[in-house]
Amino acid sequence: MPQPILIVGAGPVGLTLAVELTRFGVPVRIVDRAAVRTDKSKALVLWSRSLELMDRTGETSAFLAAGMRSGGANILAKGRQLGRVSFTTEGTPYPFALMIPQSETERLLEEHLAARGVTVGRQVELIRFTPGADGVEAVLRGVDGSEETVQAPWMIGCDGAHSAVRHGLGMAFEGDTLPSQWVLADVHLKGLPTAPDELALFWHADGVLALFPISPGRYRMIADIGETSDGTARPDPTLEEVQDLLDRRGQPGMVASDPIWLAGFRINERKVKSYSAGRVFLAGDAAHIHSPAGGQGMNTGMQDAFNLAWKLALVVQGKAAAEPLLESYSIERSAVGDIVLSNAGRMTAVATLRGSAKQTLRNLMASLVLHVPAIRRVMGRTLSELTIAYPQSPLTVPGGRHSGGPAAGDRMPPRPGEPPIGAGDTPRFALFAEASPEATELLARYGALMEATPRAPIAPGAMWLVRPDGYVALVAKAGEWAEIEGYLGRLVAKG
Ligand SMILES: Cc1cc2nc3c(=O)[nH]c(=O)nc-3n(C[C@H](O)[C@H](O)[C@H](O)COP(=O)(O)OP(=O)(O)OC[C@H]3O[C@@H](n4cnc5c(N)ncnc54)[C@H](O)[C@@H]3O)c2cc1C
Repeated sequence: MPQPILIVGAGPVGLTLAVELTRFGVPVRIVDRAAVRTDKSKALVLWSRSLELMDRTGETSAFLAAGMRSGGANILAKGRQLGRVSFTTEGTPYPFALMIPQSETERLLEEHLAARGVTVGRQVELIRFTPGADGVEAVLRGVDGSEETVQAPWMIGCDGAHSAVRHGLGMAFEGDTLPSQWVLADVHLKGLPTAPDELALFWHADGVLALFPISPGRYRMIADIGETSDGTARPDPTLEEVQDLLDRRGQPGMVASDPIWLAGFRINERKVKSYSAGRVFLAGDAAHIHSPAGGQGMNTGMQDAFNLAWKLALVVQGKAAAEPLLESYSIERSAVGDIVLSNAGRMTAVATLRGSAKQTLRNLMASLVLHVPAIRRVMGRTLSELTIAYPQSPLTVPGGRHSGGPAAGDRMPPRPGEPPIGAGDTPRFALFAEASPEATELLARYGALMEATPRAPIAPGAMWLVRPDGYVALVAKAGEWAEIEGYLGRLVAKG
């Protein structure tokens, strides 16, 4: 039995990674310094792409049962609706945003992990570590203060924004803390002007007020309240202050009650340059943090984990060479992190714009732009993370495209009635091609990496080779077996 991979941090990202690696039969040890899971609602949304990826472990149904579906977001200013972005995107089994508090997401992931026989080692803190050529020596401290030294072949820092793993690697968390202070309230709310299951953003002269449904009658309110004169953090808001913000920036008749969580926060926009160093990886908030605008933080982190798990599993189990698989993790996910940071930053800047002339122009532009269906569609698809793609990856054969299906690097949309690509107890690529003796022979030869039979082609005249996380590795003309063969050969070639 190989030594377990060490996962530091059992937030949504560490738990997702542990579930995925365990599913593939890779031994893991997951530790968290906290005594209990968070009870805070924090990240509220699971987007379509995350739900698709969770489908491969059969988890999605439990999340759907525990969450609430939201169909869109409304932008309002001066008592009128400037526009609405729909989350009912096409081409996915999950055409909605699933509203679910992070505390519930973590509970379901932890239960799912426990059902696979792995429990989180709580009140165990990573103190320091020494990276080596073949693994990592990590020192963990238990609740009684005792220290334990463990050897792990790989270590993944899923330990959040103040990551001890990132610090230990000496990696800079480059970026800024924005000067503006924010108020957060998790409250019960009555009298909303929009559909109760939709998001509402009020663009007001004083700043933005955003409302996110959590469960029937329960909402998250956030609002920017400007800078404090001395830059110090202001105390947590009271319910009266929350009501005052609703009265001034929202629409008449909204009443908040029964607060569950009232807090102040500031926005950091930071990211590491590289998500890996030798046998140590970073994922989630340890690698990237940004504005909550767009609700992408946790989803992006969970998708870091989905991206890394199948690659590590293939390497650990000796089914594929370490490179280019493992180097592709940082290249792919860092590029996604850059896009997410930039989009969230832009959304925040637009929503918090100051100055009456600029705000008038913004509102006018927004109402024009949001009336163009194609633009609304792009916005909805971007939020749902269905547009994430890896065109520049070393795992993508450039230039591959066919008018009948996705290009190399793009997501392969799930087809109704077919099992999700990458489901099962080992990571497997899928080949979309006509059945033929050549296909049978190739799939048998690369049986450790490939699904046993081809899936029906997407369009005549072409073949699609799709990675276990559902992204297209290459598109080839039908019959060009050498392309597929060459790709798989490079994956397994050692040294
Ligand atoms: C107010 C708020 C609102 C948010 N809203 C959204 C949203 O709407 N949508 C969205 O996608 N994201 C949102 N986020 C961001 C989201 O909460 C984070 O992106 C998410 O929690 C990141 O998950 P993670 O697993 O990377 O890190 P974390 O959730 O921070 O988990 C890290 C874990 O590591 C543990 N740990 C830390 N150091 C050590 C150590 N040395 N040893 C052992 N364990 C350690 C911690 O105890 C913790 O459990 C929000 C965040 C906040 C604070």
